[in-house]
Amino acid sequence: MGIRNIGEFGFIDKIRHGCLIRPERVVTPIGDDAAAYRNEAGQLTLVTADMLVERVHFIKEATSGFNLGYKALAVNLSDIAAMGGIAREAFVSIAIPDDCALDYLQDLYRGMQHLAAEFKVNILGGDTTGSKTDLVINVTVTGSVAQNDMLLRSTAQAGDIIFSTGCLGDSRAGLHLILNRIAADSEGLAALVDTHLLPRPYLEEGRFLAHSRKVHAAIDVSDGLSSDLGHIVRESRVGARLYARQIPISPHLQTFCSRFNFDPPDFALAGGEDYTLLCTADRKTADDLAKDYRKRFDRPLHPIGEISDSKEIELVEDDGRVRIITPTGWDHFKSK
Ligand code: ADP
Ligand code: MG
Repeated sequence: MGIRNIGEFGFIDKIRHGCLIRPERVVTPIGDDAAAYRNEAGQLTLVTADMLVERVHFIKEATSGFNLGYKALAVNLSDIAAMGGIAREAFVSIAIPDDCALDYLQDLYRGMQHLAAEFKVNILGGDTTGSKTDLVINVTVTGSVAQNDMLLRSTAQAGDIIFSTGCLGDSRAGLHLILNRIAADSEGLAALVDTHLLPRPYLEEGRFLAHSRKVHAAIDVSDGLSSDLGHIVRESRVGARLYARQIPISPHLQTFCSRFNFDPPDFALAGGEDYTLLCTADRKTADDLAKDYRKRFDRPLHPIGEISDSKEIELVEDDGRVRIITPTGWDHFKSK
């Protein structure tokens, strides 16, 4: 049996037992967007790591160094956002093949430093090594959050309203254009490519949701709506019902789907790397939360469905039919 049989998440499930040697200060071990442990000051320290591998996560010829560096940090900041935390320090480890130009690497650091400056994150260290063929970059980010503020995947409750902080599916559309070498010949298509290459971490929004006290659970959409909602459903032992009509689809994605003949909700459900936050909020105060959010950010918090006790994810189609959906987002060993 190999890892292909159990997939990325089956693998993580297998190795997570036996990893916790000193549980005393640990509040969130393996299984959420970031780990959390109580530090000496009584706050929680958050730690998250994400690795980008050439030919798996990016095609070097199609990605500028700047965009790659930006994204390597952004995906980690997104995990801190999903916990409701403040991002603090970053550590960057990089394995460099002989033929990688120094200019490309300096550009990569410019991209990372640009985003680090925007979100006031220090880059404090890392490691550099050679690589036989592919460029590999791993970023680890620490953050902090008060224990009462922390948002988890495992605390959604039946009846909660599910929200997304932004549109879904744009990043996958951008990736489709890049992989199929389709020229981004309009402003709309260029915007989709940008969303894929330069995802914005929803850090301020995560803080706002955490402070609101109206949110029960959260995750960032890295693998796709169905997959990441699947994590909330599984870890919280609940189900979910999504309404196709309510899934936020950008006008750019609408245009893209008509032109290339895709179904927008399907695209949004399976598409990864949106890096919006999904959160579930108490039904009684969900309207107030959405109003306060709009007042603060001048953008909507999109309600897309509700948490149920069915243990399944159901999608209500526009014609009222209900379809059970299995998480179909990205799994490194099952999706090929
Ligand atoms: P995300 O998509 O939010 O980055 P992942 O799905 O990558 O989250 O990881 C889920 C959980 O599994 C996290 O707690 C992560 O730290 C942990 N994890 C992933 N890979 C490993 C590993 N090789 N060893 C230990 N923990 C891991
Ligand atoms: Mg995550």
